[in-house]
Amino acid sequence: MLRNKIAVVTGGSQGIGLEICKKFAENGAGIAIVDINPPEKLESAVQEIAQAGVQVKAYQCNVADSAQVAEVCKQILADFGSVDILVNNAGITKDNLILRMSEADFDAVIDVNLKGAFYMTKNFYRPMMKKKYGKIINISSVSGIFGNIGQANYASSKAGIIGLTKSTAKELAAKGVCCNAIAPGFIMTSMTTSFQDNEELKKSIPMGHFGKPEDVAALALFLASPQSDFITGEVIRVDGGMAM
Ligand code: NAP
Repeated sequence: MLRNKIAVVTGGSQGIGLEICKKFAENGAGIAIVDINPPEKLESAVQEIAQAGVQVKAYQCNVADSAQVAEVCKQILADFGSVDILVNNAGITKDNLILRMSEADFDAVIDVNLKGAFYMTKNFYRPMMKKKYGKIINISSVSGIFGNIGQANYASSKAGIIGLTKSTAKELAAKGVCCNAIAPGFIMTSMTTSFQDNEELKKSIPMGHFGKPEDVAALALFLASPQSDFITGEVIRVDGGMAM
């Protein structure tokens, strides 16, 4: 489904990002991972993805640093020739009640989750526009749709991602570039390990259980493929019905 396409996935060394890389690679896409983790950790992800027989390369980069992002995006375009798919997936949490949340923790989450996606999009905007083809997939969260206690920073960043998605979609729709957002609910990754056994939380999910990274990757594949060519500016939940 993605033969001859090149995908860039931020935060692609583990969790949802790694699963998206694997799914895209199985479907024929070359993969560029952009992740803050050191080369050793990126190497095991690269080997896992490369089992699909596609070109894979990892780049260590803090997406919150605009200069690093510009440098890495330039390098990716030089290494792969072009980019067809961008998945803005890198994200962090620094939860606390607003009363106790420091300005630094508010900024840190906005810088990675929202500004990181902006920087990446900015750098691939012109190449995709020139190519008259592109798929940008932003990973939001149900927190960005309905807010969450202790997550003013995170929910703001993920609500911001929805605004970024719709603005990008409108700016690039006539240029053949689609931009959509995925809003996951509770997914079993390192981000949620501390509350995966919380029965009260499970009760808040109509389907009664957490999702898997594969559930998000399946939708990402659809949004990256030609099957979704007439869909843009959309926000799709993968949450077992939680934010219904
Ligand atoms: P994860 O397992 O923590 O993976 C996130 C990846 O992004 C990690 O490899 C992380 O590195 C990397 N990263 C963090 N900061 C970065 C930076 N500044 N620059 C580049 N890479 C960076 O998280 P996940 O659960 O897969 O989450 C992926 C995305 O889904 C996030 O945007 C998250 O907000 C969103 N999401 C997750 C859930 C969920 O339930 N898991 C629900 C809704 C939305 P380190 O590990 O070194 O920090």
